[in-house]
Amino acid sequence: NPASSAELARTLLAAVATDPTTVAARLRARFATGRTRPLEWRLRQLAAVRALLTEQQDTLLAALHADLGKGPEEAYRTEIGFTLNELDHTVANLAQWLSPRPAAVPDAFRLAEARVVRDPLGVVLIIAPWNYPLQLALAPLVGALAAGNTAVLKPSELAPATSAALARLLPRYLDRETAAVVEGGVPETTALLEQRWDHIFYTGNGTVGRIVMAAAARHLTPVTLELGGKSPAVVEPGVDLAATAQRLARGKFQNAGQTCVAPDYVLAVGDTAAELGAHLAEAVRALYGDDPSIAPEYGRIVNERHFDRLTALLDDGRVVTGGQHDRESRYLAPTVLADVAPDAPVMREEIFGPILPIVPVPDLDAAVAFINERDKPLALYAFTESAETKRRLTEETSSGGLAFGLPVSHLAVPELPFGGVGESGMGRYHGEYSIETFSHTKAVLDKPLG
Ligand code: NAD
Repeated sequence: NPASSAELARTLLAAVATDPTTVAARLRARFATGRTRPLEWRLRQLAAVRALLTEQQDTLLAALHADLGKGPEEAYRTEIGFTLNELDHTVANLAQWLSPRPAAVPDAFRLAEARVVRDPLGVVLIIAPWNYPLQLALAPLVGALAAGNTAVLKPSELAPATSAALARLLPRYLDRETAAVVEGGVPETTALLEQRWDHIFYTGNGTVGRIVMAAAARHLTPVTLELGGKSPAVVEPGVDLAATAQRLARGKFQNAGQTCVAPDYVLAVGDTAAELGAHLAEAVRALYGDDPSIAPEYGRIVNERHFDRLTALLDDGRVVTGGQHDRESRYLAPTVLADVAPDAPVMREEIFGPILPIVPVPDLDAAVAFINERDKPLALYAFTESAETKRRLTEETSSGGLAFGLPVSHLAVPELPFGGVGESGMGRYHGEYSIETFSHTKAVLDKPLG
């Protein structure tokens, strides 16, 4: 019957449109035409992504709310607004970033000229996670397109509404030869990883990071791995603890703690722990009121598996504030735990939820030793008035990023690189660092024959 044959045709077309081999071939063919190289083409693609973000704002906010209960203010600021800033900064500077850089030539090659040019790589695979499902898909896409590549986007299946919105909307703004969205989970990602790509940009956990890197090795494909880990926050005596608590609470409990650079735990130096705990309870009240379960800007845990994992950690310390939870709505209150032992389960793995343990340490030496005994974190935060402490933390510890006085926000400074080191990842992006990541930095030497 015609209705079902039309339906069958549509299903087949959709399957072909997102089949990994077909998608890769289609995007590679576009890249091979050279059409993606001119600055004008790149700016046109960025303008299209900008239009998607502004014209479809309501649909995207609704999807983010459906996936993670994100309130409109936070969702705009951390997903749509964030990506627009990144995009606008790229548009404003792209011509300069792409201009060839002259290099000095040794006397032996006199009359020769040398320059460094940024060559697009080809077809980029972007694999995104669920926690900032829009930002972490589109910010890398901005970099990949700005660098003159075509790209495949694989959103996270754990944020299904945002994944579906991207799959439906992106083709309305970018043509099928420039960018494609392939939805799905492990089997689909595994099939994508079998293809040859010119760069793979993965954001997520270290276990899958290893799978991605092993798959990339088969084709000698370069990878960027944006991973996570436990990011400490050191609090020294003598600082304004009320202000410290406000900033910690804001950075920690945004997106219900499901932020890769959220302060994972506090190292409270000297006698700061008790007073800081009281200020944190007050800061949570100031942010979300007496009952965060009805605060429009307080998010939800992504799924039951993560909810169960998190609630099992609530016994690892004395609850200073929070602890309330409801499995059906996946609500877990912003929670602060005091008197946490350094080897408690909550201190073993990245928390990735709204639980903030406070671990007392006697002095800065102990804090530095504590940090250095563990995996290199994605971010390190410190609240201190001491220039000497800042110097020591800068020189004596290793982390993806380091911020004094303000957690999380370093990633919103487009001139700063964003990325991890060691277990927290490899490679970096944002702004000009994205161009560097998604380009080959090519040496050109030119000596006249005469
Ligand atoms: P996730 O489960 O959504 O996985 C990320 C991606 O990997 C998804 O697209 C998923 O489909 C794919 N994937 C999952 N299993 C796979 C497999 N076996 N083979 C191939 N692909 C597979 O997200 P997640 O890992 O739970 O994300 C949370 C982690 O990501 C945390 O550790 C967090 O710190 C980190 N993170 C890092 C950053 C950063 O920018 N550095 C940002 C956000 C999250």
